[in-house]
Amino acid sequence: SLEQGPEGPETPIQVVLRVRPMSAAELRRGQQSVLHCSGTRTLQVSPPGGGPEVAFRFGAVLDAARTQEDVFRACGVRRLGELALRGFSCTVFTFGQTGSGKTYTLTGPPPQGEGVPVPPSLAGIMQRTFAWLLDRVQHLGAPVTLRASYLEIYNEQVWDLLSLGSPRPLPVRWNKTQGFYVERLRVVEFRSLEALMELLQTGLSRRRSSAHTLNQASSRSHALLTLYISHQTAQQMPPVDPGAPPVGGKLCFVDLAGSEKVAATGSRGELMLEANSINRSLLALGHCISLLLDPQRKQSHIPFRDSKLTKLLADSLGGRGVTLMVACVSPSAQCLPETLSTLRYASRAQ
Ligand code: ADP
Ligand code: MG
Repeated sequence: SLEQGPEGPETPIQVVLRVRPMSAAELRRGQQSVLHCSGTRTLQVSPPGGGPEVAFRFGAVLDAARTQEDVFRACGVRRLGELALRGFSCTVFTFGQTGSGKTYTLTGPPPQGEGVPVPPSLAGIMQRTFAWLLDRVQHLGAPVTLRASYLEIYNEQVWDLLSLGSPRPLPVRWNKTQGFYVERLRVVEFRSLEALMELLQTGLSRRRSSAHTLNQASSRSHALLTLYISHQTAQQMPPVDPGAPPVGGKLCFVDLAGSEKVAATGSRGELMLEANSINRSLLALGHCISLLLDPQRKQSHIPFRDSKLTKLLADSLGGRGVTLMVACVSPSAQCLPETLSTLRYASRAQ
């Protein structure tokens, strides 16, 4: 578990791997599992047909039997929450191909029907962190203001998932105090868990999806829910630019678009444009991470400006922050090529 880690960031990125269970469809097709966990930190890949086994090591490896609660604990999200309460910018993001369990891990399964609630035991990392944070703030005794924003990056354009007016893409700006921020993004103050859950539901229902040969409602966008934590007792600097989010601790949850290659999905036309923008952000993210991890390049310029995604994650990746990556994979043989590319991307990030 990463829960007992020392204070503060020892490495800028911590990586956890989650293997989802075989789906009913995979089982029906008689798919074999090619992934085996040995111990709590090693994943063994056995290619079908008896090729050589490959092993990958991560901060934690969570097999298909692990519950949502197990995942929340193993990810050490509470530690990130404590850092955010002390003014750090922390990010949790899920990475993997479409259908690998990214959204399930962050927000749980979708409701099974109108008015059918999702059992609390299936709540994702986000809901669990929300509950923890509100409880923690209540027991702090000091006045804390909590705010939230929820946005989507689609084709390198930023869309506000909580906007009240008719939706239009918003510009990303930079200033010395705030770093990168989204202009005119709606940032909503909340005081209760119920109010925050409502914001989450509003945003989730507005996320884009498009019919796709790999998955009926595959996510072609990156979704970022950010919690802003400010202590009222500290001397507050007013935001330099009107309409910019408040300065303070931040906790950001990012549900990345599917990492699969364009070729595998038969993308054409508009979908090709989507795939290119997605790959551009994910490539930029991978590039920034690899430069951040290279000790020789530590002081050098990190190209956060290469994509909207890396601009908005710059403070948790580069500055006062901690980033947790949850890499998600399917155990099935059919997904092995994409699984290997996810495992390599995730390995390079630690
Ligand atoms: P992604 O967001 O990566 O495209 P999803 O989170 O939508 O993938 O997961 C794909 C499907 O698998 C969904 O039906 C989801 O409910 C299911 N699923 C994913 N992870 C798990 C899990 N750990 N346990 C049970 N079902 C899961
Ligand atoms: Mg998803």
